[in-house]
Amino acid sequence: MFRAVNHRAADAPDAPRSTDRRWSAQQGAEFFGVPAWGDGYLGVDEAGRLTVMPERDPSRAIVLADAVAELRERGLSTPMLVRFPQLLEHRATVIRGAFDDAITRHGYRGSYTCVYPIKVNQHRSVVERMRSLAPRLGLGLEAGSKPELVAVLAWTSDTPGTPIVCNGFKDSEYLETVLLAAGMGRPITPIVERREELDEILRLSERLGVTPNLGLRVKLASPGAGRWQASGGLGSKFGLFVAEALDAAKQLIDAGLGERLTILHCHIGSQIADLRTVRRATRELARIAVELRRLGAAITTLDLGGGLGVDYDGARTAGHSSIDYTVASYADALVAEVAAVFDAAGLPHPDLMTESGRALVAYESVLVFDVIGVSGHAPEPTDAERAAAGASDLEPLRELSALADSSDPAPQRLQAAAVARDALAELFTSGGASLAERALGDRLFHLVGHAALEEMARAGQSPPEPDRLADILFDLYFCNFSIFQSLPDLWALGQRFPTCPLTRLDERPTRRAVLCDVTCDSDGEMRSFPSRAGAGGGLTLHTPRPGEPYDLGVFLVGAYQEILGDMHNLFGDPDAALVALDDAGRLVIEEAAPGDRVADALRYVGHDPASLRERVVAETKRALRDGAVSQQLADAYRRRLEDAIDGSTYLRSDD
Ligand code: PLP
Repeated sequence: MFRAVNHRAADAPDAPRSTDRRWSAQQGAEFFGVPAWGDGYLGVDEAGRLTVMPERDPSRAIVLADAVAELRERGLSTPMLVRFPQLLEHRATVIRGAFDDAITRHGYRGSYTCVYPIKVNQHRSVVERMRSLAPRLGLGLEAGSKPELVAVLAWTSDTPGTPIVCNGFKDSEYLETVLLAAGMGRPITPIVERREELDEILRLSERLGVTPNLGLRVKLASPGAGRWQASGGLGSKFGLFVAEALDAAKQLIDAGLGERLTILHCHIGSQIADLRTVRRATRELARIAVELRRLGAAITTLDLGGGLGVDYDGARTAGHSSIDYTVASYADALVAEVAAVFDAAGLPHPDLMTESGRALVAYESVLVFDVIGVSGHAPEPTDAERAAAGASDLEPLRELSALADSSDPAPQRLQAAAVARDALAELFTSGGASLAERALGDRLFHLVGHAALEEMARAGQSPPEPDRLADILFDLYFCNFSIFQSLPDLWALGQRFPTCPLTRLDERPTRRAVLCDVTCDSDGEMRSFPSRAGAGGGLTLHTPRPGEPYDLGVFLVGAYQEILGDMHNLFGDPDAALVALDDAGRLVIEEAAPGDRVADALRYVGHDPASLRERVVAETKRALRDGAVSQQLADAYRRRLEDAIDGSTYLRSDD
């Protein structure tokens, strides 16, 4: 439940700024950008509630707030990760369909396989679902390490026809596992990342009597683009330089193994923002493939790696959190470029493969957390207070009062208000103004500032000093989650994630907020958001109502966030659930699992919860023996710590 941290917020839930209800659910959806970044999977119903449509079918929608309420009934609490497994199937179908269409359109004579790299989300439910979709949608799986390989091999034991691609740096144990799986008849291909791996494969192959198909990863000259460009290009730590690849291919051909060199692979980075970059890299890879084929290598498959992006902003631009293309145009570009190069060379078309992870799983999960308090919201000064300020002998206070009625351009008003506010603070410090006068000045500053920011956002202008203004003007919404655990790419890379309340989208939101997580770290905050709700910095939200949860969702968090997250402050994995729709369109909770307990988090950093318990018990016994505390207090203290060890790492929000 929402608890007011700042008494002023609790006193003023119905302040004028938050009572304008002439606002429709449609306006709310547009304001938060739901149709743009939701991509048909997210919507808003007439009652202003966020909905999830796992199959992009508006007649089969899940009201997210209802699902969260049901999960709370079952004992889960926020923060929670809500997964929609049906959405994975839809994404896989969309990608498959886009390539099938492009293949037909271009008369392409090769096939397409999407190989899911499990590093993007290794959660059991995701891998299990992908594996079960594999036979029908022609999906494969990719492993990038020994643990991932074990998971992939074991999960595909009953779908042994699933293609498996092995990337990452490999030692002889990794390679031996791959070769033995190939010996078992599995369609598994190790991709050579380093020259030494090829020598080791050949050595093992002789020893085990198994010759696998293999692939080469090449570093392209075509630069990647965006935040993840370091994983592609000539400076990348991955793959072989073209000269090394040529040498490796010749070695295989000379050894009579040219037919075994089946895959040529590149990965120019994740979340490629623009289609031009994709086209250039595809053409370069295809050209290398043509040359290697002419030398005698089979190269039956071109594997273009990951990179198919997700429009987190909904802006459809080549910005950092957006993409300027669709799944369909991506597929079209790949097919067209490869066809053109192979047609020009007079060679048969190769099969195509992509290792699309993000585009498959990003939409699948939503992080939901509750706002536990708000700080910094000053109630607007009353008419009497404004009149008193206007008649004050303090010049900055008079100035602030006048600015509240001024029709000067918004940026000027904002600047002038900031100057007056600073002057008033200095007067206070030197003893020339009272605390009450300074507080009134602050409230007038908020009034002027918020009005100016709103006006500027409507006109598409940015505040002149966004960071400084954010510090002093935006409300702080304290939210029960850890950015380091649940949104690591926001912290590490400045990635923006779409964020939106689960309810009240039919009410005009009026407060500009910075979202602060519960870690003791100043980096643990969200300040930058897509859509009009985030224009000018911060996120425009509603005033939470005392006694009623105000839950926010951060969307499109299914790719990379879970596994890259860390335990800063020992905030662990949040509770998690699998939510689906049955054939009749009813909500089904397929799984509901508590997240890490305090004991799990402590164990993770080497503490033994049992011995911590013993230490607490020993302390209470000593204190009782010394007569320092009552039995009642000692028992209460011991019980509290024992409960804490078994409890959630997050704040309890239900009391
Ligand atoms: N393949 C390789 C070799 C990668 O390194 C990655 C991720 O960085 C991927 C595939 C998945 O990329 P994406 O999530 O952009 O599809």
